[in-house]
Amino acid sequence: MDAYPFFRNATNHRYGCSEMDTRTEDQRRRIMQAVKSKDTGPELIVRRLLHAMGYRFRLHRKDLTGRPDIVLPKYRKAIFVHGCFWHWHGCPKGQLPKSRLDYWRPKLEANVKRDRTNREQLESLGWATMVIWQCETRDTDALEVKLQEFVERT
Ligand SMILES: [Zn+2]
Repeated sequence: MDAYPFFRNATNHRYGCSEMDTRTEDQRRRIMQAVKSKDTGPELIVRRLLHAMGYRFRLHRKDLTGRPDIVLPKYRKAIFVHGCFWHWHGCPKGQLPKSRLDYWRPKLEANVKRDRTNREQLESLGWATMVIWQCETRDTDALEVKLQEFVERT
């Protein structure tokens, strides 16, 4: 079963919203290319965006607790990209199923608990962590702002 149901990115991208745009034309063009791509899963959307923004990162580092999806070693930041259902986001896609509750509830509760423990452990080692939810990757403008704020926060 696929943890990240794919969906089309339906966001309308606005060109030329420039007031908070301090990037070069070239950077802006690469970011737009990254977010316009029809492909695919939430994690790939985040990776493409970070790459276009000029950040270097590593994937799924096994030596770190919880194998964070994306790690920016230079900034000591770790990003988890979570599917809304499997990590029980609480948004419309992240609800308990209506049937087989006795199966799903403990399963999803365990996922949530493990997520929390992983983040706590990483943070105790000096990593800043952030979760990007699947549903957040639909609005790539907002996502870009969120990523930038997280990475640059000191
Ligand atoms: Zn969600």
